[in-house]
Amino acid sequence: MSPALPGHLAVREDEPLARHSTFGVGGPADLWVEVHAVDDLVAVLDAAEATGTPRTVVGHGTNLLVADAGIKGLVVSNNCVGLTFDAAAGLARVESGHTMARLARQAAAAGHAGLGFAIGVPGTVGGAVFGNAGAWGSDIAAVLASADVWYPNGVRRLGPDDLAFDYRHSALQNDPQMPIVLSASLGIQPGDPEALHTQLETFARRRLDTQPRGQTAGSFFKNPSGDYAGRLIESAGLKGCARGGAFVSPLHANFISNDGTATASDILALALHVQTIVQQRHGIRLEPEVRVLGRWEPAASELLA
Ligand SMILES: Cc1cc2nc3c(=O)[nH]c(=O)nc-3n(C[C@H](O)[C@H](O)[C@H](O)COP(=O)(O)OP(=O)(O)OC[C@H]3O[C@@H](n4cnc5c(N)ncnc54)[C@H](O)[C@@H]3O)c2cc1C
Repeated sequence: MSPALPGHLAVREDEPLARHSTFGVGGPADLWVEVHAVDDLVAVLDAAEATGTPRTVVGHGTNLLVADAGIKGLVVSNNCVGLTFDAAAGLARVESGHTMARLARQAAAAGHAGLGFAIGVPGTVGGAVFGNAGAWGSDIAAVLASADVWYPNGVRRLGPDDLAFDYRHSALQNDPQMPIVLSASLGIQPGDPEALHTQLETFARRRLDTQPRGQTAGSFFKNPSGDYAGRLIESAGLKGCARGGAFVSPLHANFISNDGTATASDILALALHVQTIVQQRHGIRLEPEVRVLGRWEPAASELLA
């Protein structure tokens, strides 16, 4: 049974997910809906739950490897972007579809310090809470005061302890209820707008010098404890290694890039090869940071095992 979604929302069938992922790969979503209000996000999630429709919420698709065969059920694109700064409480209250980089710029312009790291994290606040995203020595765990999170039986306000943050990890990732972040309150302090602006420009410039542009999903693998995935991949001689249209970036070995012709299967095959060679050379099993979603042949489970 199809979920009964609010009538003002446009639902598309067989929407190509390659359009919605920075890797530029991925087959269709059976159903695709964009939401711009938190009430609609909740209504869509409740409707999917009521009909047992598989559902996936995506932000800006900056950390996704979607199967060539697409994603079953309903894919919800989160564009809820409300933002208020409460200087007295020392909080930015932000909806989960807001862009991290934009949040960094808006906070700086309004003289609120603490969120500058967000300039280095593409994607939405919801995706960042889900993965405890971070850059420049900070991360979501360092700033999150609370998050309002949808569960099948209602919305709960969670604190950092409930979310059990760790490096690129939150409790949301292993929860079989597949909770969804609706909004977050993040800590801010008073700051000088000009100095904050300068800091953002410095961060942004350094990024351009050290990271490949084009079709990637950022770091493919998590850094293992005490080391760097990029160093291990480079020293295993894998820079430039390719499968179909997917290649290990010569600029940053932990980035897999799409030359514009790659399929999701090319990227998966390359990631599996990198994982295998690094394990053989260094005895370390790299764990993907990128979220692997959709209808995969068993090969995808090898990467995640
Ligand atoms: C060039 C580049 C550089 C990057 N650099 C960094 C970096 O420095 N640091 C870093 O941490 N990451 C980095 N990333 C990865 C990416 O920016 C983060 O993982 C980001 O937080 C993903 O946000 P998103 O909105 O795009 O999520 P998506 O890619 O759309 O989704 C990622 C996962 O989050 C889940 N999700 C999305 N929204 C919600 C929600 N509201 N509630 C619950 N779950 C949700 C999705 O279901 C999916 O499993 C980089 C990516 C790129 C392309």
